[in-house]
Amino acid sequence: MSGFLTKSDETVRVRFGAGLRHSIADEVARLGATHALVLSTPQQSNSALELAEKLGSAAVGVFCRATMHTPVDVTEQAVAHTQETGADCLVSIGGGSTTGLGKAIALRTGLPQIVIPTTYAGSEATPILGQTENGVKTTLTDARVLPQVILYDPELVSGLPVGMTVTSALNAMAHAAEALYAPDRTEASDALAIEGLRAFADGLPQVIQSPGDIAAREATLRGAWACGTVLGQVGMALHHKLCHTLGGTFDLPHADTHAIVLPHAVSYNARAAAAALKPVTDIFDGPGPGRALHRFAQKVNAPLALRDLGLREADLDRAATLATSRPYPNPQPVTREDIRALLQAAWAGETPAN
Ligand code: NAD
Repeated sequence: MSGFLTKSDETVRVRFGAGLRHSIADEVARLGATHALVLSTPQQSNSALELAEKLGSAAVGVFCRATMHTPVDVTEQAVAHTQETGADCLVSIGGGSTTGLGKAIALRTGLPQIVIPTTYAGSEATPILGQTENGVKTTLTDARVLPQVILYDPELVSGLPVGMTVTSALNAMAHAAEALYAPDRTEASDALAIEGLRAFADGLPQVIQSPGDIAAREATLRGAWACGTVLGQVGMALHHKLCHTLGGTFDLPHADTHAIVLPHAVSYNARAAAAALKPVTDIFDGPGPGRALHRFAQKVNAPLALRDLGLREADLDRAATLATSRPYPNPQPVTREDIRALLQAAWAGETPAN
């Protein structure tokens, strides 16, 4: 089944279906391209090589050095490789790190992208690109980084280890939860956020019980698309700010950090935005949205405490200062003292208040 979303004045082709990766040659040809460069992380080089094999003479090579947080030096090597090989299209197979590399190359070269996501991060559905240079991560929004084609193949995501499945799903759910109280939200973004949250509320427990359940994997990929799309449509707040700070400064793993912080950030904002967060309370069965998400996280065996990721208690003061150093819109006023308390609770893995 196919769906479509807007890429400025064009249309992004979004397809869902088991085995869709096998149609990669047709998708490349459909773009009018004949020289595809396949991108992946080193860990997924086998998947990239398989795709290149399927592409046959329509593949000019494989670049499998995608890295978390899209370091600019890796992008520069990839752009040089793109030019040397005469590539006229990019095929990214992997999670947000590989998608980020494809977006970064597209920004610099204007090449069209086909993305085959293998996690739930949702980057493929946003015009957002985060890049790291000299240890500093900056984020830009530019329609030129949106892919032309997204192929969601549930067979590929069925190989995502259960632990990563859980944290990646909570990462996706965080986009939807924060979209519900975004100042620029619309009825359409609310509907999409709710669709995404429902998909994971229903599908994630099934997928954990049976990781190879292709129908449940496809349902959760649909959730990932919905959550990623709202991330690209409306502004994010406290939760994403905290995860950005913790990931960037303390080098904590992206999806795990999202998974742990989400119930606490939602609980914090429930003080000011309980009505906007009511769908979360309802979908995850109360009593409040943060507590409901915390219980869901426990049920799916998500990591619950930042200390288990290696963050030291002594770092919490600095994290609170960094996360509150620049003002940003958030439903509940952000004070250093309150954020310090939130971080303490997330560090210790406590149940949030609301
Ligand atoms: P990732 O892409 O870094 O993947 C983590 C590891 O898992 C990698 O080694 C990868 O090769 C491996 N992996 C991925 N899928 C697999 C599978 N199906 N089976 C086995 N191994 C698999 O992780 P992620 O959480 O998808 O992405 C995180 C990155 O994406 C961060 O840099 C984050 O900032 C970015 N991101 C960007 C946006 C955006 O809109 N720009 C949105 C979400 C995330």
